[in-house]
Amino acid sequence: MESIVFASNNAHKLEEVRFKLKDIFRVKSLKEIGCFDDIPETADTFEGNAELKAIWVKEKYNLDCFGDDSGLEIEALDNRPGIYSARYAGADCSYADNNALVMKQLAGVENRKAHFVTVICLMLHGEVNFFRGEVHGEIITEYRGTEGFGYDPIFKPLGYDKTFAEMNLEEKNKLSHRAIALNKMLHFLKENY
Ligand code: IMP
Repeated sequence: MESIVFASNNAHKLEEVRFKLKDIFRVKSLKEIGCFDDIPETADTFEGNAELKAIWVKEKYNLDCFGDDSGLEIEALDNRPGIYSARYAGADCSYADNNALVMKQLAGVENRKAHFVTVICLMLHGEVNFFRGEVHGEIITEYRGTEGFGYDPIFKPLGYDKTFAEMNLEEKNKLSHRAIALNKMLHFLKENY
């Protein structure tokens, strides 16, 4: 089985990605290729940041890879936190801090529509391709569930009764933004390689 590097050390993301690609690629993390860099995410779009991660691995390690950037866009907050989702509540904040800030900002707000975005930048055989996934839903008014990570306990996808944090990995992986982007990448790989 061929290997591919996923330019991330986020254990939750790695678990989701490995689960999805398990029959096709052995997915290596940054740590596994000896990369302990904090890759700068200085672009102002998801695409730009995903590309920075993929280019970093290609240029420093000369390995096929894909990078992703993801985040939560909330309609009533002019699509914030967006590309700032990881550190929305400050430099060293926790997931709980970010969720608390969102809940505070949406207190009393009727429009709670939100969507998650993932953009994957695949760097394969020297060429770059992008795959975008979005899942729409709402920020609920309470915390529910303990699975997953990040904003999962406060995000309920449209048409479902459960938040992402009330779903197991298999359920979330059928509908998440990351799963949609990964499916597009898989389709591309099947067609082209
Ligand atoms: P990234 O590592 O720069 O892509 O940061 C993405 C941030 O967006 C994470 O730290 C989470 O706060 C949030 N995020 C991305 N995907 C998800 C998800 O599937 N569930 C919950 N939060 C997510």
